Formats: sequence, structure tokens, C-alpha cells
Amino acid sequence: MSFDINRLVRENIKKLKPYSSARSEFSGQASIFLDANENSFGSPLTKWYNRYPDPLQWEVKKKLSKIKNVPAEQMLLGNGSDECIDLLIRAFCNPKEDHIIICPPTYGMYEVYANINDVGVKEIPLLPDYQLNLDVLEHAIEPSTKMIFICSPNNPTGNSIEHEDIEIVLNNFEGLVVLDEAYINYSRHRSFISELKDYPNLVIMQTFSKAWGLAALRLGMTYASQEIIDILNKIKPPYNINQATQELVLKALDNLEDVNMMIKETVKEREVLVKGLVEIPMVQKVYPSDANFVLAKINEATAVYNYLKEKGIIVRNRSNVLLCEDSLRITVGTPDQNQQLLTALKAYKED
Ligand SMILES: *Cc1c(COP(=O)(O)O)cnc(C)c1O
Repeated sequence: MSFDINRLVRENIKKLKPYSSARSEFSGQASIFLDANENSFGSPLTKWYNRYPDPLQWEVKKKLSKIKNVPAEQMLLGNGSDECIDLLIRAFCNPKEDHIIICPPTYGMYEVYANINDVGVKEIPLLPDYQLNLDVLEHAIEPSTKMIFICSPNNPTGNSIEHEDIEIVLNNFEGLVVLDEAYINYSRHRSFISELKDYPNLVIMQTFSKAWGLAALRLGMTYASQEIIDILNKIKPPYNINQATQELVLKALDNLEDVNMMIKETVKEREVLVKGLVEIPMVQKVYPSDANFVLAKINEATAVYNYLKEKGIIVRNRSNVLLCEDSLRITVGTPDQNQQLLTALKAYKED
């Protein structure tokens, strides 16, 4: 396979002269900063937030680099994974000409950002066992196919995509393979992050929103070759990660053990939830999950969804989604929350 990033990137992005912010032109030590039109008098908060944050978030990336074993230069942080998806599509896909490939049922935001950017979307549905349909995928690829999004573990089905299948795509596709590992911490399968150096076309996305428990801070990570990261850095908003998020995440990164404890607990509770669900007669099937949620096929799923809602328990109704007919996606809660859900389901009277 011949991979050439220059063939993939849009011409206008290649030629783009990026905005040069005050903080990127001077980032050394000084005592008087009069270069960025900030408020030199302070802010109404006790802890001042009057200065613009580090545009490239080096402190966060350096700490993350030790945990992930990836050089800081091969990371891009986004305002949630959402921003990472948008940046990738805008950097590489020409509106009205290029397209991405997605494998439904999968995360909805890939398609939304393609639509926003007027970029085409080709859907190659997963097989009934929720694995990649490699034969159809192979024949769907055209010169204007710029990227293939693979979500593993997949949302909303919960399963991991076969490692070997992902390798086959990486080895045979000359565009970017964007692997969304939002739920990787809950998986029995290992991350592809250690294989970044083997694949110039591999882009990995992870997030602080799930295992790290920091969804409100909005911080997503992208790992790729430095070439790809440099292109994304060129087009990202200069100060896309705010100072409060950078400070709080730096603190969180010191508490890796707490995170690992929560992951263990979540996985344990996932198994309790699955055991409870399969005992309920109206539950037809609980799909094996490598994530912090399970997909369950339930008789009268929409009626059950509405019943739970009446009781103040909100799950995700995926009944209208391809290959997820009559299915509810249920996030693993605390032991008490899971018991309340199971008790409510057991009390449901089928028509
Ligand atoms: C939750 C989730 C994310 C995380 O998105 P953020 O914008 O980082 O909160 C990414 N991908 C998938 C598949 C998800 O389910």
C-alpha cells in the first residue's frame, strides 16, 4: 500500500496560512504581558482566568504522553471528540466531492459532521453479528473515499470489532482509518495505540468523557502521525481547550488508580446487570458488551422505554436503528441504580 498524506489533504488547507495568536508567537517567560489585549486587572473570580490558555496544551499532553506511551507531538486535544471528528473531516474532505465511509449501526456524530460540511457519507452496514462487512467495504472504496470510521467497542452495540479485521482495513486502504476508542478502557481487547508507528494512515480517538468520568469538561484526544497532527493543529481554533479544563485534567491525570478502580467496578456491575437482564422473560437477548453499556433486545421495547421513563428511569431507545430493532441501550449505573432498573423491568406487565 502506498500512503501519501499530501494526496489526502485538501488543497486550501495545504496552502492555508494559519492564524498566529499572541500566545503562539511568544510563549517564553516574561513579567509584563501586553501582547494579547487581555484584561490586565484580573477577573471577578478569586482564581484569575484573565490570560489566554496554552494553545497546544503542552503540560496536559506531556503528562498524557507518559500514560499512553505516545509522543506529545502525535496528539491533538479537542473540545470533546466531537471537535476532533469535525477537524478531520474539514482537513481532508472536499465538500460535494469526497466522502467518508461509516458502518452502521454506529455513533451518529460522524454522519452529522459530514452533513454539516457537505461531505458525502457511504454506509456499509455491519454484519448481523455486528462485525465489519469486509467484502462489501473493499468494493465500496473509491479515490474520493477519504476516511473510514470504525468504532470499537462500537456504540450502540457494545461489541469490539475484530482486531484482525481492522488490520486488514489499515493494510489495504490508502485513506485514513479513524478508529474511535471512546470505550476502550472497558474492553477485553487491547487498544491500537501501540500500533500507531506501524500505520501512517491510522488515527485513534479517545475521550475523557467515559472512563475518566469528565464528560462536562469536554476533552477528546486524537493520536496519529505527526504529519496528520500538524495538519489538524493548523486548522483548529487557537484556544480550543480552556484553562479550567486543562487545570482540572492535569489533576485528574494524577489519579490513574481511581480511574482504574472505577473501570473495574463498572465492568463488574456490567456483568451483574447482564445476569439480571437475561433472567427477565421479556428480554430476548443481551448482546455481549465491551463498553459501559449493554444493548438488550426486549419485547415491546418502545412501550418498555416509555414505562421506564414514567418511573424516572431514562435509557436509550434504539428500536428505530438499523439492526437494533426492539433494542434498548442501557448504561451501567451504580449497583443501586442497576437494581432499581431491574426491579422496574420485573414489574412490567406485558400486553
Ligand atoms: C461518548 C462517545 C464519544 C465521546 O464524545 P465526546 O465529544 O468526547 O464527549 C466519542 N465516540 C463515541 C462512539 C461515543 O459513544
